[in-house]
Amino acid sequence: MRYHIPMYFRRVKNLYNPALHNSGEPFKLSRSKIENFTRCPRCFYLDRRLGIDQPSMPAFTLNSAVDALLKKEFDIHRSAGTVHPLMKHYGIDAVPFAHPMMNEWRENFVGIQFFHRPSNFILTGAVDDIWKDKDGNLMVVDYKATSVNGDIDWNSEWKQAYRRQLEIYQWLLRNLGHKVSNTGYFVYANGRKDKEAFDGKLEFKVEIFPYQGNGDWIEPVIMEIRQCLNGSLPPINEKCEFCIYRKSAAEVENKTEWSKEVIIKKRSKKSAAKEPEPIHLI
Ligand code: SF4
Repeated sequence: MRYHIPMYFRRVKNLYNPALHNSGEPFKLSRSKIENFTRCPRCFYLDRRLGIDQPSMPAFTLNSAVDALLKKEFDIHRSAGTVHPLMKHYGIDAVPFAHPMMNEWRENFVGIQFFHRPSNFILTGAVDDIWKDKDGNLMVVDYKATSVNGDIDWNSEWKQAYRRQLEIYQWLLRNLGHKVSNTGYFVYANGRKDKEAFDGKLEFKVEIFPYQGNGDWIEPVIMEIRQCLNGSLPPINEKCEFCIYRKSAAEVENKTEWSKEVIIKKRSKKSAAKEPEPIHLI
């Protein structure tokens, strides 16, 4: 039996190359990567410059289902040019925005795209929805699904990330020349846990929360990202539990033979019958 253990879990695509991307070929950067940078420049650098991704997480498929159904629901009103009852309920004088690019703007890995000349980056972000008010201003909308008892806590760290997300979409649309309102909305679907039984269905309380976006931070952060990508590996965030774990693990591993590079020696048929060859790890 042959073992296949990669030498490095190192991506070779979508890496920033200073020689290539400083002035020539633009470098594509998504909204989520900007978010990663704001959380930890080192992890961002490991990913975009060195090709070391963070381990992937299981997909939030229930959230995606809620997103898909909300999109379908608002699309009915988009085609008809009518106000969704929820918007009416919250007194929002707008309709879902109909635009030929809408499907592209909502598609992951495509999204709204804008070339930012000073950084030589193509910035992208896939929006959930856009509404248009009676004065022609666009209002960015993000759908969120959760299940919490009581009110949504707007002060958690995740919510700060949601606000930044909405502000980036506003900024992208503005840069494409659209008239964009500072007011955006979160459509929040909160799964109810107070029902008698599951009964094969989950019920949601759907609420709309307005948010006044301010994207003043975006341009400076983009330039910081460029500087980071052209520099050397940023320092460790000593408060991050993952890095403390990595550091502690590396210290222990460095004292063992498992600290060396993975080498899978080719075993002859003869030796294959014997003890398996040791696998040396980095
Ligand atoms: S501190 Fe370390 S593990 Fe944590 S986010 Fe930064 S580089 Fe990643």
